[in-house]
Amino acid sequence: MPDRTVFLRRLLPMSLLMLTSGCAFLPAGAHRQSGPDHQGFLRGVFHVHSSRSHDSRARLSQIIKTGRRAGADFIVVTDHNTRKAEARGCLCRDRADPLILRGEEVSTASGHLLMLGELPEAPKDLSPSALADWAQRLGGWSVPAHPAGRKGRWRGSFPRNVAGLEVYSFGHALHETSRLLLPARFLFLGAQGFLRSVQTRPDAGLALWDSRLKEGRAAGFASADAHAHFQWPGGVHPELLLAFRSVTHYVPVRERTPGALERALGEGRGYMAFEARGSGAGFDFSARAGESLYRAGDTLPPESGPFMLEVRVPRSARIRVMHEGLAAAEAEGTALEHQAEKPGAYRVEVDRRGGLWILSNPIYKAGGGYLE
Ligand SMILES: [Zn+2]
Ligand SMILES: [Zn+2]
Repeated sequence: MPDRTVFLRRLLPMSLLMLTSGCAFLPAGAHRQSGPDHQGFLRGVFHVHSSRSHDSRARLSQIIKTGRRAGADFIVVTDHNTRKAEARGCLCRDRADPLILRGEEVSTASGHLLMLGELPEAPKDLSPSALADWAQRLGGWSVPAHPAGRKGRWRGSFPRNVAGLEVYSFGHALHETSRLLLPARFLFLGAQGFLRSVQTRPDAGLALWDSRLKEGRAAGFASADAHAHFQWPGGVHPELLLAFRSVTHYVPVRERTPGALERALGEGRGYMAFEARGSGAGFDFSARAGESLYRAGDTLPPESGPFMLEVRVPRSARIRVMHEGLAAAEAEGTALEHQAEKPGAYRVEVDRRGGLWILSNPIYKAGGGYLE
């Protein structure tokens, strides 16, 4: 994580403004924590630090209360070099509380590696490749955190066995915005406008993802990388609340359990939404080949022939289907259909209100040596 003192200098004034300008009164996301929504998605926040991390002062109870205020169904806690967050799974105090998934952000010689799944604490002093292999062997998975960040960038090539990579990090986007302007932006734009102003298209992260996708499967992650840089007496922490509303994952699961969520996240199911530009609920991306329907994370077999990619968005927006780093199809409106045939990874970007709104995980087409 970027240097703590820099963050303190930046975030303290902003946090004071947050309190005076009513961040806590931002409209909440839909509360549906009792189970997946009617389309089978759970919505949650990826990459959050509790007070078990040296650079965060968020108690787990504050993470839960703040997640509940933000309408999160689940929260992925990834503390620095420890798995000692107090719980995995529902704390069972209240069914409306978000499910807590416990991971770890391990510092390696190449950068930070997030480890997810039902794993013990990661062994120290392993190389990134050995760590990724270790996680996979035990049924978990790993992804490089903020690999394209100006600070904390991943050095060298990615381990072969990672599940994907973080394409976007809100913590790093904030860090890379001029600190002189942050309080002013917050004051004049309000919390939602502030988020839109600091959330620009993550070009470097997307380029890294596209190059990885040319080699094979890679799940995309958009992280809050949420820290509480100051202690807060209340239950809902204003700094966490802003981060929890910055970007969310919509994950298709049949059951509300840590195992099902971790599996779906690692397989690159679902999509990510920057919800200061609108709720991501109702987005759909599929591929139809004959009678078969495929969704994000699925692979069409080499013999499937031409297939129809279909995108539906809940509000009118600019929709792009991306293939090998280029727009294969583009449309303005609430739907896009595109017939494709080439092997490779197909993913969707949707822009609205001046920037990236929805980012889907890819549907893959095997063939010509790709995924064969
Ligand atoms: Zn980090
Ligand atoms: Zn982190």
